[in-house]
Formats: sequence, structure tokens, C-alpha cells
Amino acid sequence: MPPDTRHVLVVGAGVVGLLTALRCALAGHRVTVVDRGPVPNPVSSSFDQHRAIRALDPADRAATRRVAAAHHEWLALERLLGARLYRRVGVVTAWPAGEADAVAAAGADAGLPVELVEPDKLPHMRFPAGSVGVLEHDAGVLLARRVLTAVARWLDAHAAVTVLPWQDVVSVDADAGRVVLAGGRRLGADLVFVAAGPWSRELVDLPMVLYRQAMVYLSPPAELARWWERAPSAGRVGADGRSWLLPPGEGTLLKVSSSAVCREVDAVAGPGDRAADGSVDGFADGSDGVGSWPVDVDRLVASILTGPERYTVRRVRQCHYLVDAGTGGARLVRPGPAVWACAAAGGDGFRTAPLVAARIAAQITETTAENAVGSAPTWKEYA
Ligand SMILES: Cc1cc2nc3c(=O)[nH]c(=O)nc-3n(C[C@H](O)[C@H](O)[C@H](O)COP(=O)(O)OP(=O)(O)OC[C@H]3O[C@@H](n4cnc5c(N)ncnc54)[C@H](O)[C@@H]3O)c2cc1C
Repeated sequence: MPPDTRHVLVVGAGVVGLLTALRCALAGHRVTVVDRGPVPNPVSSSFDQHRAIRALDPADRAATRRVAAAHHEWLALERLLGARLYRRVGVVTAWPAGEADAVAAAGADAGLPVELVEPDKLPHMRFPAGSVGVLEHDAGVLLARRVLTAVARWLDAHAAVTVLPWQDVVSVDADAGRVVLAGGRRLGADLVFVAAGPWSRELVDLPMVLYRQAMVYLSPPAELARWWERAPSAGRVGADGRSWLLPPGEGTLLKVSSSAVCREVDAVAGPGDRAADGSVDGFADGSDGVGSWPVDVDRLVASILTGPERYTVRRVRQCHYLVDAGTGGARLVRPGPAVWACAAAGGDGFRTAPLVAARIAAQITETTAENAVGSAPTWKEYA
């Protein structure tokens, strides 16, 4: 083994853990991945049909530039894995007409290709009254489940990677750089990275807030199928501007949700919230099966789509994400000299996962802790 080869132990096989494992293996390290379930794990918050990727935050240009790097990382990952993972259909965000020019200018200033779009160009989505769309072109839909499957397959085939499913980590010794598995077995490494998603509060003691959000999956009517396949993803839409949607395509359904169906909760819903048939993937009858609060599916859909009666509800599903209590965003921490943790992945933790992976890989090779997220080499340089 080359002298700078390290052993990295990754706890959690969601998108953050899997991409970090891949990145570290590409950098020449020995990697072990453990998950309390199968790999990939259908109950992980990453395991869904799709996730949106976009960068523009007009209030934070530095963050916009940083997250814009994720777009290139995902394209490079597609090339590395030889799999289609990213539908680059763009993301349109609704803004009050008086603000849209400034938002578009902020995007252009950050180097993003953006364009103003009148709502009548997207007639099947409902925009808030008096709003205009700002369309980001280097954005779109990540095919989340495909990402997890492709990365897990790549890791399985890599000689320096060991994947250990069905291993529940019950504690992390931050000083010693070791974890304890249920049953008492201990695993150590030069660097332990905890990426336990919404369950990270069980292993990392920091103030964090857990959210549960319902999502509704629909099939468009046959006559709109082609329109939707070319449609962008959309945010801040719906009659009240609190909703988002991901368009169907490549075998995925149309998905809609809203902050109106997002709640702070105490715990990740357990098996009791699974579908009656035992599947963890939802409620094929379109019932509201979200357990702890009622979701008026028809009302939600009608507030986001025009002509809602033309769509067929296929599934309603709940999902969780964790945010830092102070910032409301993601939080990467170093609880001990040899332990890092994605304490909170945040509400945009899928698209930013390559940036976290780069940061951890850079950390192992002892680049400085001051390295900005995303400053490490890109996938392309490894491919
Ligand atoms: C409704 C909703 C919509 C979202 N939309 C977007 C979006 O459009 N774009 C976007 O970028 N992000 C989005 N997100 C956020 C994104 O899905 C998450 O931030 C991201 O998937 C988190 O990935 P992760 O790897 O940190 O966690 P997870 O995918 O949850 O993976 C954690 C893994 O750790 C394992 N694990 C947990 N505890 C242990 C333990 N003790 N021992 C062993 N294994 C353990 C779990 O089994 C699991 O496999 C959304 C989230 C929600 C809820």
C-alpha cells in the first residue's frame, strides 16, 4: 500500500456516505462502509425517485457559487459511473415580479446561466399571482435511487472497499476514532465519518431539528406526458408560493410537495408508518398514509397543478431531514481528532453530497481544515 493510504470507516450508506466512500476510494484509500440496513437502504432519506439540484440563492452569492460547483460534480460522476443520473431540465423558481430582475442578475453575477420565464409558458404549473419565473439552466433532477444503486455497485466492485450491510452502530468513540456495533464488535479506522442522515442525533450530540415532509407522486394524463418530460423542476410555486415539484421522466413520477405539509417532529417515523403491505415505499392507493397528521392530498395537488383532476395520485410518502438548530442548514462537524460527522445534511443534502465527500476526502489527506467545501479535486480529475 502507498504510504499515504489511510483506512476510512463510513457510517451510513445514504448519498452522503456512499459518495464519500467512492471519493475516498478514488483517492487511493481503503474504505469500509457500514449501514444498519441493506446497501442502499430503502428507508434512507436519500432513497427516492428524484431530488432537485439548483444553486441560486440571491441572498448569498458565495453559497450560490459553491453549490454551483455541485452541478459539475454530478456531471463528472455520471461520466465516471457511465450511468444516466442527472436530468438537466433546469429549475424554475417563482419570484414577485418586482424582484425577478434582481434575482436573475444575482444568478448571472454568480456565473449561472439564468433566464426569466413568464408563467404562461408553463401553463400546467400554478404560479403565485404577480410572480415571474427565474429559470436556472445548469440545474434539474437527480435520479436519486439510480445514484445510490450505481455508487453501491461501483463500491462493491472496488477491491479496496468493504461494504458491511446490517451493522447497527450504537456509539462512536470520538477520541479513539472507533465505533461500537450492536453486539459489541468494535471497528476503528484512521478516519471515521458518520453520515447517518436523520438518525445522526443518535450518534452525535448537537442541537438539531428534525422535519418530516409529505410528498405526493402522480401520473400526468397521457396527452401531457411529452410536455412534462421537457418541463423544468419548480420551486416557490403553487398558489401560495410554498410548493415545489419535480417533473416526471426516465421512469419517475411527477412529485409535488409544500412547506405546508412539513412538520417539526421528535423522531423518525418507524416501521409502524410503513404501508399496509409492508413496503416502505408508500401508499399505492393514494391514501394519505402519513401517520401523524392529515394531509389533504387533493387540496395540495390543486394548489400546485392546473387541471388537477386530470392527474392520478399514485403514492403519498413521508420523508425526514435534519437541520442545524442554529442555522437551519447543514452542519459538518469534527467531534474528535479522527472523527467527522455530517451532523445535519439539511433540506438540500442530496445535491450537495459531492461537496461534502470532497471535503472529507481532502481532510484525510491532511489538507487544512480551512479548506472550503468544494475546493478539493473534482471527480473528473480522478476519472
Ligand atoms: C421531502 C424531502 C425533499 C427533499 N428534497 C431534496 C431536494 O430536492 N434536493 C436535495 O438536494 N435534497 C433534498 N432533500 C434532502 C436530502 O434528501 C437529504 O439531505 C439527503 O438525502 C440526506 O442523505 P444522507 O446520506 O445524509 O442520509 P440518509 O440518506 O438518510 O442515509 C443515512 C443512512 O445511515 C444509516 N444509519 C443511520 N443510523 C445508523 C447507525 N446507527 N448505524 C448504521 N447505519 C445507520 C441509515 O440506515 C441510512 O441508510 C429532501 C428531503 C426531504 C425530506
